Amino acid sequence: MVLTLNKMVASFHLTVLPEIIRFIVLAIFVSWKFYRLVRSNYKYMAMINKSSSKFIYRRNPNSELQECAICRSEFVAGEKIRELKCKHMFHRHCVEKWLQEYKATCPLCRSSIVSEEILAEYRRVKNERNDSIIEKELALILLSVLHGGSCHGF
Ligand SMILES: [Zn+2]
Ligand SMILES: [Zn+2]
Repeated sequence: MVLTLNKMVASFHLTVLPEIIRFIVLAIFVSWKFYRLVRSNYKYMAMINKSSSKFIYRRNPNSELQECAICRSEFVAGEKIRELKCKHMFHRHCVEKWLQEYKATCPLCRSSIVSEEILAEYRRVKNERNDSIIEKELALILLSVLHGGSCHGF
């Protein structure tokens, strides 16, 4: 009885423990990556907020019709608009998607909205997210630990 217990403890130390340690280290690494992703997103959006203004569209009857150059539709009263520092206006969701996924410049006049430094960090972190080798390895370890655990149990 004591012998089997010792054996079980020994096998735990030899097989399960190193996996758990590896798992914890990788989990910390992934959390750190996630933290950097959130932080760089936050910085990027803060920069966009700083160099543009948000408002609700109200049509002035004296002015000509205005349209969003991204989706090519006219502004309708009540829509959420973002005006960039170059005075070009777009739907808020259209220009945010553009700035986050395509370019950090105005779609019309190409004046830059986000500083080089913040843009570089944003791009780097975004690219890191795409190669998810570590996340895959983490999932594999988790699976093997769970599988191993259930085998020991029976
Ligand atoms: Zn639009
Ligand atoms: Zn512009």
